[in-house]
Amino acid sequence: MLEVVPILCRAGQMDNYAYLLVDKSTGISAILDASEAAPIIAECQKKNVKPQFLLNTHHHFDHVEGNAELRELFGAKIVGAAEDKDRIENMDIALNDGDVFELGDSKAHIISADGHTIGHILWYFPQDKVLFTGDTLFNLSIGGLFEGTPEQMWSSLQKIKNLPDDVLFYPGHEYTVYGMANLEGESGIKYAETAKKRLSAGLPAGPFTLADEKKCNPYLRIDSLQEFCRLFN
Ligand SMILES: [Zn+2]
Repeated sequence: MLEVVPILCRAGQMDNYAYLLVDKSTGISAILDASEAAPIIAECQKKNVKPQFLLNTHHHFDHVEGNAELRELFGAKIVGAAEDKDRIENMDIALNDGDVFELGDSKAHIISADGHTIGHILWYFPQDKVLFTGDTLFNLSIGGLFEGTPEQMWSSLQKIKNLPDDVLFYPGHEYTVYGMANLEGESGIKYAETAKKRLSAGLPAGPFTLADEKKCNPYLRIDSLQEFCRLFN
């Protein structure tokens, strides 16, 4: 079983999430998207874990800047997309679409998701039904198109839509409030209530299931490529 601990980084600025992942049967652990070292080190000390791996969704500085210090401190290996090999420093393990990465007994399937960047990957743990979407999918919105085309982003979002409804997803930023104003209908109201309750308790708004997201995220509700591309013109 995989334990997932969100760690808010760059709080009040970019509101990134790093995630501490612990494979409960072996104790092997990792940090996904080491945004900044200090809050991650504090959480690791609190839980008394030394991550063996630093997993990455993409090369942007606000997702990788903690890598160097954590690699030094924990002797952890840096893992990312082969396409980011020259952009994520000191990558020890380079992965491609369809690869399976073993974190102890927990297995992550690598899904390539071009759009926000070229080489962005999703980390999907099918046994645990959890998905880390980096800057591809946020609660109620999606990441900006820095390197890819709307067509590429569309195809990446279809891959997410095709995953099971009961998968919980964990995004790279806390951007939920920005999308809440547009929520409507019964499922939208329920989504907003849950998010507000968690946020006011000092927790992340998520995780939400992909079923909730498919119902409420306007970018996932669109089902024609043409209509999706119109948003970017
Ligand atoms: Zn990014």
